[in-house]
Amino acid sequence: MSLAYVGMGSNLDGPQRQVTQAFSELDAIPRTRLVKRSSLYRSEPIGHADQPEFVNAVAAIDTSLAPEGLLGELQAIEARHGRRRGLPNAPRTLDLDLLLYEDRVVASPRLTLPHPRMHERAFVLRPLLELAPGISIPGRGPAAELLAACAAQRVAKCDG
Ligand code: ATP
Ligand code: CA
Ligand code: CA
Repeated sequence: MSLAYVGMGSNLDGPQRQVTQAFSELDAIPRTRLVKRSSLYRSEPIGHADQPEFVNAVAAIDTSLAPEGLLGELQAIEARHGRRRGLPNAPRTLDLDLLLYEDRVVASPRLTLPHPRMHERAFVLRPLLELAPGISIPGRGPAAELLAACAAQRVAKCDG
């Protein structure tokens, strides 16, 4: 089994419910088991600020699927949540990004690992560090140091 981290985000149609439900759906992927779930966090939208705030979280999963197969399963879950692909950074019901897959480095047309923008996003790093305080991102360094560098981005735990 391989350990992977999945970043989750939603800002449409009941974001907290979308993300909470997605944890169970990750656990239901074939040859895959949910190991840990982070708290839910609120964050301000990047890019087009004129849209609802996001709810974000990170899941740790164990899987025997290859990274490309896992990405396909994540996209199938997004589609079931009614995800429409529009402009970059547009509002979405559910976004599932494959952040890390062990310490694998991949650069294919469909899949880049580690996720190419995770190291500059507080809404990814903060929940990731909740699950794995000592984690480093291949090619980028310790996640705690990367989070310190995006202190200007506001991320807060959701209540309850
Ligand atoms: P961002 O990638 O900046 O978070 P986004 O999540 O809105 O933006 P999407 O429209 O969800 O972007 O995905 C665009 C493409 O990114 C997908 O078609 C997918 O093939 C590709 N991709 C490459 N690497 C990854 C990865 N590690 N996780 C998820 N998608 C990836
Ligand atoms: Ca994303
Ligand atoms: Ca995505």
